[in-house]
Amino acid sequence: MSENNKTTFGDMPADEFRRHGYAMVDRIAEYFEHLEEYPVLSQIEPGWLTENLPASPPEEGEDFASSLADVDKLILPAVTHWNHPNFHGLFSTSTSSVGIFGEMLSAAFDMKAMLWRTSPASTELEDVTLDWLRQMLGLPDQFEGIIYDTASVSTMHAIAAARERAGLQIRELGTSGRGDLPLLRVYTSEHVHSSIDKSCITLGLGLQGLRKIGCNDRFEMIPELLADAIEEDIEAGYIPICVIPTIGTTSSSSVDPVDAIANICEKYGIWLHVDAAYAGPAALLPEKRHLFTSRELKEDPHSAIRDPQFTGWERADSIVLNPHKWLFTPFDLSVLYCRDLSELKGAFSLVAEYLKTNDEPAVKNGMDYGIQLGRRFRALKLWFVIRYFGVRGLTERIREHCRLAELFASWVDASDDFEMMAPVPFALVCFRAKPAGMSGAELDALNERIMNAINASGEAYLSHTRLNGKYTLRLSVGSIRVEQRHLEKVWRLLNEHLAAELEHS
Ligand SMILES: *Cc1c(COP(=O)(O)O)cnc(C)c1O
Repeated sequence: MSENNKTTFGDMPADEFRRHGYAMVDRIAEYFEHLEEYPVLSQIEPGWLTENLPASPPEEGEDFASSLADVDKLILPAVTHWNHPNFHGLFSTSTSSVGIFGEMLSAAFDMKAMLWRTSPASTELEDVTLDWLRQMLGLPDQFEGIIYDTASVSTMHAIAAARERAGLQIRELGTSGRGDLPLLRVYTSEHVHSSIDKSCITLGLGLQGLRKIGCNDRFEMIPELLADAIEEDIEAGYIPICVIPTIGTTSSSSVDPVDAIANICEKYGIWLHVDAAYAGPAALLPEKRHLFTSRELKEDPHSAIRDPQFTGWERADSIVLNPHKWLFTPFDLSVLYCRDLSELKGAFSLVAEYLKTNDEPAVKNGMDYGIQLGRRFRALKLWFVIRYFGVRGLTERIREHCRLAELFASWVDASDDFEMMAPVPFALVCFRAKPAGMSGAELDALNERIMNAINASGEAYLSHTRLNGKYTLRLSVGSIRVEQRHLEKVWRLLNEHLAAELEHS
């Protein structure tokens, strides 16, 4: 018999909520304590969970305890443990415990941040927290931020703003049925994240509206090729609207030369959007700042005259970075910083122009800055994270990840059986097994087998990419729980699996 009282209306009684709530926190604490006992990648076959779940909903309410029991029995086996310290695939991202409290409370308040009035706390805390983060990253105070769910959505909004700036009245007239619209172009490197292709699809620019520029042997966009492409497109009657360099590409974490690209954007009046979705938080580290800007290097703190000239990513019109990637904030929370947030507002706000006055109450309405009406209270979890760890705590964690990645790279370098495939500017190591006497397709297949075997074992998770056509293993260090012993384990696994492979052949 369910304790669920069906003779009354309303929610779960408070005492029951408390009881399950305490048990839930215990569960989560135990989950984190025992994380390493789980296989990193879920070991189930596709369809297993579906088959084991009832096909139709329960007619009568059930005890919450029975749902919870099914979490152990059915859900946990189907979880891939992103929080596991040996999750090194894709980009290693994880949540801090304190971030979970932010999710709990924001779910409890259940505010929809559309207008300031419907969620003053969300609106103002978002502004304050993003200004803290801006200072932490060393960005100039012109930059104002807005929170979206993912970098994909942040970037789509940036390109939409860029499209408006081009003055083609697409906001009003759209793109369909217009003979007067030439091809509009967005430029990225060939190592760009697929979210940009998707933005072009979504915004009616189409995939032919995206032009990918070649890279040098460090996988960095070649600015001369960008300038040539823009010239060629203008000649052909096309309109360049946006250039998107990446700081920390998905494949190899390479850094496009943002300053040189900014010069080109300035010359042609093109919107510059910087994708720092992964690497952005590394700007907290003074020793990594040079990958974002060269301003510090030019500045003399003892001089009264500071160089007012911005360099690197400070010259962008917009920048995206993801605290849910490398700032220990639970998914999802992506930040879009704009040099002039009113341009974004101009692209999306539906408040008639004649209603905008300077004496309007000075409130910000989140709904004016994107396609969503209601927006989640996401700032709370980031605020908790920043306050709990402090700037120093966050900086030291990211610094440790960079140290561990460099350490792993040094093992690769020192080994006769492995080789590095790309530089390590942040905390991603691109490498491969390369035993003597093996090359080409044979080597690709060997690396693929080693990776698949490690991933299938559940001991660790690595992913891969292709660099210069070569199958490359990627090891990302970014979990809040990662320690040196976890990397030692991966290194041991790699060497064992390689030895086993060589024995069989
Ligand atoms: C992860 C990543 C993205 C996409 O992030 P989402 O928040 O999942 O949309 C975009 N660009 C880069 C460089 C990334 O690393």
